[in-house]
This record gives sequence, structure tokens and C-alpha cells, in this order.
Amino acid sequence: MDTLDSFLNFVEQSPTAFHAVANLKDLLRQAGFRELKEKYPWLVDDGGRYFVSRNDSALIAFAIPRTGFASFRVAAAHSDSPAFKLKPHFEDGVEGAYLRLNVEKYGGMILSTWLDRPLSVAGRLVIRDGDDIATRLVNLDRDAMLIPSMPIHFNREVNDGYKWNPQVDLLPLYAEAGREGSLMRELAEAAGVGAEQVLAHDLFLYSRQTGSVWGAEDAFFSCGRIDDLECAWGCVKALTDAEAREHIQVCAVFDNEEVGSRTKQGADSTFLYDTLTRVGFALGASDGEIRAAMADGFMVSADNAHALHPNHPEKYDRQNRVYMNRGVVIKHNANQKYTTDAVSDAVFTLVCEKAGVPVQHFANRSDMAGGSTLGNLSNAHVSMNTVDIGLAQLAMHSACETAGTKDLDYLIRAMRAFWDE
Ligand code: ZN
Repeated sequence: MDTLDSFLNFVEQSPTAFHAVANLKDLLRQAGFRELKEKYPWLVDDGGRYFVSRNDSALIAFAIPRTGFASFRVAAAHSDSPAFKLKPHFEDGVEGAYLRLNVEKYGGMILSTWLDRPLSVAGRLVIRDGDDIATRLVNLDRDAMLIPSMPIHFNREVNDGYKWNPQVDLLPLYAEAGREGSLMRELAEAAGVGAEQVLAHDLFLYSRQTGSVWGAEDAFFSCGRIDDLECAWGCVKALTDAEAREHIQVCAVFDNEEVGSRTKQGADSTFLYDTLTRVGFALGASDGEIRAAMADGFMVSADNAHALHPNHPEKYDRQNRVYMNRGVVIKHNANQKYTTDAVSDAVFTLVCEKAGVPVQHFANRSDMAGGSTLGNLSNAHVSMNTVDIGLAQLAMHSACETAGTKDLDYLIRAMRAFWDE
């Protein structure tokens, strides 16, 4: 299977951050990485490859040199994507006719893209397991619900702009009346447990549309969650292929980037700092040596970028716009919403040059506020030279996003060179 097919398969199997992390763990295990648990002391070996997860939705993998270490080379991406989340009590009957689901928004979704298409639900169930609790991944994996549009006859102005109210307009239809309890029974069955065992849940809707490659000469592909599974999968894939060198190679995939990263498993947590210091101490390094390795380290914060929209070129800066299939994007912002500076730009440009990967530069129009990402939040805990990069894509935060078919290979080659050289 070629790289893009493998990635599209990964996206299809990863409807939520929990699934993405479980599937990345499988990829790492196949490459000889072994799992460590944060709640136990760590024993690590020279030349060893390991990973650790937090909340089952964030992950840090690392590969240790055969002798000693001088620095950390870190990549960071994120596992989460905007979606609807089911509320604790999620069944809502309508006039003795329908059963719909009570959901709320997670992250900055493009709401209209979720209407009139088959949806399903996935996430985790926390269950009673004897006197203890246990977690089960679950994916209903069938067309199960849909958010119907209002007919145009009742909303003649819908094409002139419509403000969706998530509490009114966007509750998915699930069943006819009388099916109360059936969704949780089906979810519990899919997870191999009884519905009465379920104590709590983190469940998200996802679009059933699968990935497709399209356009003349298959230039483009579309699926959900390209932001940021493309960088997360690409970086982990590159790490599994990388050769051991004199630095510790680290790949972090954080959760909750779409809601500000301020959770225990987000980029604005101690997860990366805890992991780097624990690896250092486990290898016998002193506190001073670990701080020196951080100071000498380098981070690549990888989160997708905005390709020029074919219908709205006026929204983009004239000199610093980027395109799909033209290589890795380095992101710049004078106010440091992106961490890139001249030094980190130059370092990463040279890495890409050695890998034969083209580089493009992105900056927003000066009259438009751009987004921010993982790099500067992560730097508040682990401060090192950092570059913000990504791959150019369209329709970011749509239920169906679009990117270029050549760029994932560029990212993997660039990240291999970052760790290998
Ligand atoms: Zn992102």
C-alpha cells in the first residue's frame, strides 16, 4: 500500500483522538517501540524505542541513541479535530415521533458541513469492571444518524447567510420514538460490555464519508480530520523509519489543540516536560545535563496550513501564500503566534534542502487575525528553538477537508532528515 492509502486507512480507523492514539501505538509497536506507563518508574536502555500516552488521547514516542545523548529533537502535532460531542444525557424526544441526540460543539467547526450526511458515533466508554473501572474504545461504525436541513420553503434566505444555532438547528435525528436506550445498548454491545456496566462516556459524532482521491492526475484528496492527523501520522511514520543518532528523537501528539490545549493531555501541559526529564534521569543524566540537552534541542511544531483558496485569493497575503503539492509550509507571525524565527526558519530550510523537499512560506494578511497552534504553548513548558510548519490544505475544520496528494511524502522525508541528519 502506498503512503497516501495507508494514511487514508488510518483516518478511517481514527474517528476520534482516542482511536488515533490507539492506531499510532500499533504503528509504533510494529516498529519495535515499547509502551511505558507514566504511573510506574521507567527503566530504559541505550538504543531503546518507547512511547507513553496520557488520557489515551495524547502520545509521546521517543528513540534513544546507542550511547549518551546531546540534545532532544522534538516533533509535535495534535490528535483532536472539531466535532459534535454527545452530552451526558443525550436522548431528546420530539412530539412522540422522533428521538434526536443532544450534542454540543467541540472546537471551531464549520457547522453547515455536518448537515444532510450520514453520521456515526465513536469514542470511549468507562465501565464498571468488578470493583474497578475500565475504559473501552468504541466505534458504532454504521450510518446511524443525520442532521437534516430545513427545506428552503421554510427558510428562503438560507442562501443569503444563515446563523446556525447549535442548540436548535444541529441536533441529529437518530430514531423514531420508542427507541430510548437503544443507542447506548448498541454502543455497549459494540464495545463488548453490557449497557448496565457503562458509567460514563466521551462520545463524538463523525462523518461517514470515506477518503477519496480526485482531480486531474489525482492531484487532491479529501476526508475528515486532515488537520491534524496528516502531520500526526506523517511525523510518527517518519520516526519509525528514522535511524538512531546522537540526539533523542521525540514525537509528541497532543490532544485538545482545538479547544486551547489547556488540559493535562494538551500542549499546554507538563506532558512533554515530564517525559523529557524522566527519560534523561532514567538514562543517568543530571538535572544540568537534561537542561543543557533541552537548550541545545530543536522542535518542529507540525499543524496544517491554509492553501490558497481558488475562489478567494484576496483573503491571502500576496507574497506569502502557499499551495497544495508544493512542499512543506513554514509559518510566520510577527507577534509569535507561530514560533518561527530567522534561526529556526534557516535550520529547517536546510533540513528540507538536504531531503530534497520544497519549502513554502506562509504569513497572514496584516489585517486578518490568524490561528495559533502548539509551538508557543509547548515552549512555555519546554523552551527550545522551534519552527512552526504544516502542509497546505483547503477547508480546514470542515467535516470534509482537502489536501494535495504529494505533500504527505514531502513531510515524511523532511522529518526523517530532521531526525537522521
Ligand atoms: Zn490543527
